[in-house]
Amino acid sequence: MINNKPSDQDSANVEKKKILTKLNKTEEEWKKELSKEQYCIMFEKGTERAFTGKYYDHHEEGIYTCAACNSHLFSSETKYDSGSGWPSYFQPINKEAIAYERDTSYGMIRTEVLCSNCSGHLGHVFTDGPKPTGLRYCINSASLNFIPKAEIK
Ligand SMILES: [Zn+2]
Repeated sequence: MINNKPSDQDSANVEKKKILTKLNKTEEEWKKELSKEQYCIMFEKGTERAFTGKYYDHHEEGIYTCAACNSHLFSSETKYDSGSGWPSYFQPINKEAIAYERDTSYGMIRTEVLCSNCSGHLGHVFTDGPKPTGLRYCINSASLNFIPKAEIK
């Protein structure tokens, strides 16, 4: 039988408060920095309603960054109009920017897309995208920010 010493119990409680992101911020810290919707999508794996986000119909040139940690994720050069109601890209800005997880929720087998820097949830990737990759990165606007080309250093 395992005998939980008080010190083990304390550290277990501390761990519970932490969100499992690579940046090791607590739930409270993320909630302060993000809007309620952003928190729900990025750290509770929510999805914004189609055709409601700020970037699905956004056509400026620039770079889309992670709303949580500002990591560069997608370029406007790979954004296309998928008709899905979510911002869609056929490839990330580089391979290292994105992490992938198998997602079997809602009775579907999908591939979840996460920010590799902070592990915030971004959306999913599907195989019905355009050439040259055939991939469709279907991303929540709430998980993104945008830097116009003129402001990129
Ligand atoms: Zn991030």
